[in-house]
Amino acid sequence: MRSLSLFAGFGAFVWIGCFALGAEPVVPPRGTMVFQHVTVIDVVNGSLLADRSVAVAGGRITAVGPASAVDTPAGATVIDSTGQYMIPGLWDMHVHFVFRSYGALFVANGVTGVRVMWGNPLGVYHSTWRTQFSQGKAVGPRMMIGSNIVDGPNPIWPGSLVVHNAAEGREAVAAAKRAGADFVKVYELIPTDAYRAIAAECKAQGIPFAGHVPQRITALEASDAGQRSIEHLGGIRTGCSTREDDLIEERQKALDKSSGVGTLRAVAERQADVIRDTYSEAKAQALFARFKKNGTWQCPTLTVLRAIAWLDDPAFINDPRLKYVLPFVRASWDPKRDFRFKSLTPAAFAQAKKNFEQNYVLVAALNKAGVGLLAGTDEMNPYCFPGFGLHDELGLLVKAGLTPLEALRTATINPARYFGKVESQGTVEAGKDADLVLLDANPLDDIHNTTKIRAVVADGRLFDRTALDRILADSEQPSAATRKSGSQ
Ligand SMILES: [Zn+2]
Repeated sequence: MRSLSLFAGFGAFVWIGCFALGAEPVVPPRGTMVFQHVTVIDVVNGSLLADRSVAVAGGRITAVGPASAVDTPAGATVIDSTGQYMIPGLWDMHVHFVFRSYGALFVANGVTGVRVMWGNPLGVYHSTWRTQFSQGKAVGPRMMIGSNIVDGPNPIWPGSLVVHNAAEGREAVAAAKRAGADFVKVYELIPTDAYRAIAAECKAQGIPFAGHVPQRITALEASDAGQRSIEHLGGIRTGCSTREDDLIEERQKALDKSSGVGTLRAVAERQADVIRDTYSEAKAQALFARFKKNGTWQCPTLTVLRAIAWLDDPAFINDPRLKYVLPFVRASWDPKRDFRFKSLTPAAFAQAKKNFEQNYVLVAALNKAGVGLLAGTDEMNPYCFPGFGLHDELGLLVKAGLTPLEALRTATINPARYFGKVESQGTVEAGKDADLVLLDANPLDDIHNTTKIRAVVADGRLFDRTALDRILADSEQPSAATRKSGSQ
């Protein structure tokens, strides 16, 4: 049942734009504040800096040091943080974020930055929201925004930008630049010549490209071509097979005959056993070494891969956080109403659960090989909750074998490195952007402690626990009680 993971994260299905709901949260101004007696976690080397003062003003961290060395500016809000821990603001590196009201839910969960994997086709909504968040007109995270999805003929998602050849590939890059996208999002069905043209044009134009490994392309070629990140562990299992060339050729032939979802699913099901049975450790190590050398990041999105394998499990889908999900989105999470899942049998789900265990092994191996990992959820897909989901992902990465520190890096310093922004982001240091999360317990002891949030500073704006609780209360949706669930 490889098709399940193959169809993971096909993301945003409609564009709702500025869907306004409930009370608009109050946005505090960029404040002057000092956190005193806090333990700062150095996510680069894992050390704990005890009894520090962290000063913030004008959206920047102005000082971090022993209490005696940090002055308290006049008028500063003083926050006694004794017994508490400070980490950098978290990034969810794979979201769709189609409802602006979810911006507050990201922030309420300490997610102060998101990478949007399908920018609006018109290039309007997300960049408008980014300005609104920055200006304090609404609550939301920092955003890096992808282009419209670039896919091949008979695309998987309506609204994708379809390219047939090299010339159209180049034009897609130009269109992304015109729309102000931060990167080009590539997808499953792009023809080979178009993909190569996109890679070359992105290099020439100085814009990154990231996304899925197209079916016709090997993960190795994608890495060598400069694809900045690979989502959902795509193409990696095939790339570890001794029969990789045959597998790709079979896909190419099938897609030449008829492109589209049906073909993808059929080929994936046909090839699943071969891929599993021809796994080569030598090939895996060679591929991972190339990822490392080329700086190709992996965004495994274990959250969505797990969710789609457990959609038939009443205990899994009876999640109290459903109350924050917009009612019609919640309804769409019913697998019977999703074209990707509605024909799946109980046997298929059972197989998917078994296959999911392999993702842990793969993530552990990538981590051990020194490949850069990014925390991403595929928010908006079923049971990938805005904000909350990032903490699920950190937990799953630790389950895969990362240490809590390594997991924490995937949402802090690694995104900063990925974006080339270590000067301004990724750690709690003077001079950096004031994106901070204050925790009641040490996340290096237990990664689940990232959910014990005492306060969040997003772009210099302080949300204390009372403000965060208000956001959560205002985000609750009607009719949660009527959801299908067992009694609790
Ligand atoms: Zn996605």
